[in-house]
Amino acid sequence: MSTVNLSEITKRFGDVTAVKGLDLLIKEGEFFTFLGPSGCGKTTTLRMIAGFYYPTEGKVKFNDKDMTRVAPEKRNTGMVFQNYALFPHMTVFENVAFGLKVRKISKTEIKKKVGDVLKKVRLDQYIGRQVSQLSGGQQQRVALARALVIEPDILLLDEPLSNLDAKLREEMRTEILRLQREYGITTIYVTHDQVEALTMSDRIAVFNIGKCHQVGTPTEIYNKPVNDFVAKFIGETNLLPVSFKEHKDTKSVFYTPDMDQSIFVHNTELNIASYTNEDKLYMSVRPEAVKIDTNKLDGNNVFTGSVSLVQFTGEAVHTYVKMNDQITIKTTNLNKGPSTYLNEGTEVNIQFPEDQIRVIPGE
Ligand code: ADP
Ligand code: MG
Repeated sequence: MSTVNLSEITKRFGDVTAVKGLDLLIKEGEFFTFLGPSGCGKTTTLRMIAGFYYPTEGKVKFNDKDMTRVAPEKRNTGMVFQNYALFPHMTVFENVAFGLKVRKISKTEIKKKVGDVLKKVRLDQYIGRQVSQLSGGQQQRVALARALVIEPDILLLDEPLSNLDAKLREEMRTEILRLQREYGITTIYVTHDQVEALTMSDRIAVFNIGKCHQVGTPTEIYNKPVNDFVAKFIGETNLLPVSFKEHKDTKSVFYTPDMDQSIFVHNTELNIASYTNEDKLYMSVRPEAVKIDTNKLDGNNVFTGSVSLVQFTGEAVHTYVKMNDQITIKTTNLNKGPSTYLNEGTEVNIQFPEDQIRVIPGE
């Protein structure tokens, strides 16, 4: 087990700066996720930790040991690649044993280690099967077994579930987490899928265009996004530009030009991110926090609109409310039966509860 410490890491490929001045400290035994859209530098960062790339600037340390320019095979990291990178015409045994043979381990020991790890990933009955004859999910398990069998200090997973269908992806999430907890291994997981990141991680780093915007636990990232990029990328949100008007006791008052209305925000650390006067500001309110009612609602931040679309997902009902030509607000409620379903065109009141709005700067 090991900590991973990245300090001031930059990676350039010619004119392209894939990673810009990245600082991260990943704790021992932690399940840590790099989350961000395609092309934001996740794989490049993972490869610098594995040693397949060396950073242009900055340092990579495992515990206190400088690994910046150490060859990959001397790092004791196990990696699962997006496309698995298995040998299709070799058997499961041969694929998993490969890394051990390279390490000159005795045949008896290889047999034992491969057998043990295949039991762990529940593939022991497929030990003699050729990899090309396995399903996608089974191949995924072989790739995991191959990474784990060398008993790595750090497990690196690059979008390991992106080639699987939705149902299997959900199963494998639980499976990977179970293995990670059993081995207690420091794990860095790369994904562009916010649900994977939120459900699996101890902590998440949110990337965009070579930079890390925020590091935090899933609830911190979701409840306290630091800017509009993070608020939009993780979960869904209603985002409106606002300008600051005044402070009133425990509240701050903002103005939203899009609705030509004042917005009252309860002034706590949860609601107001730090910003300067020069920042462009937004208010963000999650769909599940917006109140919607055909009856009158009491308090501040109540507006009227008409239902423009209703989406039923089974567990939830998403109701979109058109406020004016530019603005539609999304609301989400748990499915509580037909009383939750409104017809399109219904006039409704919506409310942004003062303590559920977060004011954030633009990125
Ligand atoms: P992600 O994994 O988040 O999708 P990558 O780390 O693969 O993103 O890529 C980050 C940026 O660096 C992209 O603009 C990509 O085109 C560029 N890049 C990645 N690898 C190379 C390479 N070997 N040569 C040139 N550019 C690269
Ligand atoms: Mg990638």
